[in-house]
This record gives sequence, structure tokens and C-alpha cells, in this order.
Amino acid sequence: VPLRRLRLLVPAALALATACGATDSLKDLVEGVAGLDAQPAYQLDAGAYPDAMMVSVDAGHPDAQSQDAGPTDANFPVASHPMLPRVPNNGGPILAQPRVVLVFFRDEPNRAVLEAHANWIVGSSWLNAVGTEYGVGTASILGSVATATNAPMSVTDADIQTLLTTGIMNHSIPRPSDGTFVDTLYMVYFPSHTTITANSGAMGTQAASCVIFDGYHSEVDNMMGTGTRFAYAVIAACPSSTPGLTDIEDEELTVSHELIEAATDPYPFTNPAWAFSASTDTPWATIGGEIGDLCAIPRQAYRSATFIAQRIWSNEAAFIDIVDPCVPPDPMKPYYQTGTIPDGVRLVQRGDTISFILEGWSTAQVQDWALSPLIAQGDMTPTFMLDRSTMNNGGRGTLQVTVPPGAAAGSFALIWLTSALTADDFRWWPIVVVAN
Ligand SMILES: [Zn+2]
Repeated sequence: VPLRRLRLLVPAALALATACGATDSLKDLVEGVAGLDAQPAYQLDAGAYPDAMMVSVDAGHPDAQSQDAGPTDANFPVASHPMLPRVPNNGGPILAQPRVVLVFFRDEPNRAVLEAHANWIVGSSWLNAVGTEYGVGTASILGSVATATNAPMSVTDADIQTLLTTGIMNHSIPRPSDGTFVDTLYMVYFPSHTTITANSGAMGTQAASCVIFDGYHSEVDNMMGTGTRFAYAVIAACPSSTPGLTDIEDEELTVSHELIEAATDPYPFTNPAWAFSASTDTPWATIGGEIGDLCAIPRQAYRSATFIAQRIWSNEAAFIDIVDPCVPPDPMKPYYQTGTIPDGVRLVQRGDTISFILEGWSTAQVQDWALSPLIAQGDMTPTFMLDRSTMNNGGRGTLQVTVPPGAAAGSFALIWLTSALTADDFRWWPIVVVAN
């Protein structure tokens, strides 16, 4: 599902873009649910719902003791609430001590600052904070090269694989001296004049950089027929894509996102590691397939003295449950969210209404946030009844979702319950309703 590996650009108004990226996994999800047709129809009483659709959780969660306590008031009474998801481990290898090769083009205008950022990030406390629980330790820069030619106006993912394999074979791009590609990551930086296209599969179209994504990571799994496999990441420079960030800062965010996702899931197609796989029955996969994606909308930036990196989903923090699941936590911004009971994927008879109990929580005092359901994707349009328009820590409410009588059996709606402090500061809680 290639697009799930892309870091998606999704202002709220462009939610469809994410919906496209999520299509493959969502279809799997909905088809899986449709297979439950023999089950009794779900009733409206929330207490009657089975928990069969709960997120599959990695069994061994490390001790919570080492986790940073997170922002602000340790005595703040965080209200009870539904569990946040945890990203499963599919068992594939990771890059335990990433060896990163930087590949620039001759006309890259920002090579010096991007190299400085890369040199910072490989030994940073940020990498330590986000990588340790997934088995990723300190990284290193194996080399930095620039091509002999300027960057093309347009390039495909296949072109990038060819560029890398050709460069590695003719030694213009470094490879590890031990002869293996274990832990190796090639990071290819494109300047802003290049449009990168990657096959989105699910949408039947090509996805373009700075429109649908601003970076992705992937793998070459049989270099020139030699059986050699290596991981690579592609970084686009997307001017003016994040409010409040400079273009370089935005590119640094992309680098950090792809670095940790490539390290924790380097071979997403042949041997996935930390990711919601197609078989994971959770609507959270529509928010993000990998640990960077779950903290990428909106983009959550961590600043060191000079550089910037993205906050990253922590299964440990999600397990602790009363701290921000995106780490390192932002001392200035409490986490807030509204969860639903039940969650997951729900079958509803056509014409019927399903009620979700809403529970709001925050990790410190915040002002009321606005609550609204957003139809992110689907082939039927339910109607909503929300008994409150704002929420706060300890707030309770009800969201009723009515499936139109004329909806086709098996049609569905992906709903993101949106909790928003401002237009740029919001969270989504995903639920899927399937017409039965
Ligand atoms: Zn990502």
C-alpha cells in the first residue's frame, strides 16, 4: 500500500488526500467487517458492543518508568477515557543503529544546512527519545554525496531506485565497507523545482510531491538481481507548506519523520516491522500507518537550539495513557482528545442510529475545544446528532450517527471526530460505520 508510507500533506480542507492514501487499508478493513454479516445486527446501546475490533496490541510493553512525565501539572486529574492505539510490531527487521547516506543533487541550494541537520539528528536526544522503545539507537552518517548533474524537473520512484542502484554499483554513492546493507538508509534530497511522483496504487493515479506527500520511504529489495536489499527515503522540498515554519524547517521535519519511520519499518513491503499492516483492524490506520504519521497531522514540531524534528508516536506514552502520545512532549502544549465508546468499526442497519459515548480528556488545563464530526471518506453519507459543540477534560457527551435508509449494504463512512482548539491545532479520533 505505497501511499500509506508517504508522509501525507493534509490541511483539514484536503482531508480527501489522506482518504486516498488510506483507501487500500480501509477497503481491507471494511471488507473484513462485511464478512461479519452472519453476526447479529448491532444494537444502539453502547454497552452491547463487542470488542472484537479492538486494536491488536504488541504484547510486551516496556516498563513505563523511563517515560518523561510530559507537560505541566503532575497533579492535574486527567479524566478517564478510551485507550489510545498502539502501533503493532509485525516482526520485520529494524535499523538498530541507522547508517545514513545523504544523497544531494548538484544544484541543491540548502545542502550545508541539511547536512548540519542530519549530523545533529543522528546523535540527538530527539532520536534517543523517539527511537529507544522501538529498538533504534544512535545513528551515524555513512557519507554525503552530490550528483554530477542538476536535479530533474520531474522524477518517478522508479527513477530514484535506478539512481541509487546505479550510483551504488559504480561507487559514486557510498556503501558500507562491511559489504552488507544492514542498518543502511539512503536519504535522497530533492530541491523544490523537482516534482516527484510515486504510484499511489489505491487511487489508480500517480501521487505528486507537495500535493499528496512531502516525503516517503521505501525499499529496493533485489538490487540489479543480486538479491541485495536496502532501505531509502525520499525528501521533497515543499515551499510554504506548514504555517509557522520556514521552508528549511519544514524539510527538516520531513527528514526526521522519514528517518525514524525508515528505521522502525525499513522494508515495509517485504518484511514490515512497526506499522499498522493491512491486516490490522483499526481505523487508526487511516490517520497514519507508521509511528511518524500518527503525530504528523497537524505537524508537531520539536525544536532543539538550532534544528527541528517531528514529534513521534510513542507506544509507551500511549500505554501510560495520561501523557501526550507524541514525544518528546511539548511542555507548552497539553495533549487533549475526545474518544468514543465504542470505537473501531461498527455495523449499523440501514436507517438505524448508533450512539457513541464521548469522553474528553487533556493532560493539563486547556480551554474548551470545538467538537465536530468530519466525514473523511466513504460511499454513504450518515447524518449526525452531537449533543455538545465543545469539550473539555472530564466532559461527556453523545454522538449519534444515522445511516440513511437508502444506503447500500456494505457501504461505509470513515468519520474523524475532530477536537480543535484552532484551525491549525486539532486531533482526530477515527470511527468507521458500515451499513448492514
Ligand atoms: Zn510517514
